Amino acid sequence: MTDFHGLNAVVTGGASGIGLATAGLLAARGASVAVLDLNPEVPGELAGFRCDVTDDASVVAAVAAAADALGGIDVLVNNAGIGAQGDVSANGDDEWHRVLDVNVVGMARVSRAALAHLRRSEAAAIVNTCSIAAWAGLPGRALYSASKGAVLALTLAMATDHLADGIRVNCVCPGTVDTPWVGRLLDSAEDPAAERAALRARQPIGRLVGADEVANAIAYLASPLSASTTGSTLAVDGGMYGLRPRPKN
Ligand code: NAD
Repeated sequence: MTDFHGLNAVVTGGASGIGLATAGLLAARGASVAVLDLNPEVPGELAGFRCDVTDDASVVAAVAAAADALGGIDVLVNNAGIGAQGDVSANGDDEWHRVLDVNVVGMARVSRAALAHLRRSEAAAIVNTCSIAAWAGLPGRALYSASKGAVLALTLAMATDHLADGIRVNCVCPGTVDTPWVGRLLDSAEDPAAERAALRARQPIGRLVGADEVANAIAYLASPLSASTTGSTLAVDGGMYGLRPRPKN
């Protein structure tokens, strides 16, 4: 028997990249999995529900539909997110509100809607997708970093608030992950090959992180085998946060 056997999981942003890899891994490890995404087209072993995390009515309806289809919710992976580029002056108020709405308020909306279901579970866990940008000052990522700093603080606050409910709350902090999002970012660069090389070189392991590697960390935190782990942040960043290797000549 696998660790997620008999458990029901909801993954936001599960139609692409890290979310898709996570949804697939949880399903492979025995969970019944619902994906909540703007794009509900997902592989057959997953149940897709259209959901915009910036729209409370859409979130409430999608969480209810997912809980109904699965027969409850034990695991919530708050993963839907979008990027933003530039220094603190690069984006106007509308873009600041839009990115914070998806990346931060979206997590609050989905968590709020799922709480009653999670409280009924014997193995309740929330995993939020945070980022190395919450810990380290990356160039040209002011708005995105602010959103992920908020995710880190929100994770700790939620982990404390829901101790009494038996709901564990943790987050993963990936470095640069090879997903469609990063592909789009590279495509828009003046010199995509040079940009990819720079991103690789920034990570001490010398390559981008795989979406499957982040999925594995999310599954570790979500698993009932990790029942004593709450309020933790797990780096999946190729050593980017803590390591200072000598630059190669
Ligand atoms: P991705 O673009 O491949 O996938 C994101 C998914 O989220 C898409 O399926 C998209 O439809 C969905 N989504 C976007 N806005 C939504 C909304 N309003 N409502 C519902 N769904 C929505 O991106 P990814 O690289 O897999 O990123 C996933 C998460 O990982 C994000 O939270 C991102 O901040 C985080 N992250 C990514 C990286 C990276 O390098 N790729 C690094 C650190 C953290």
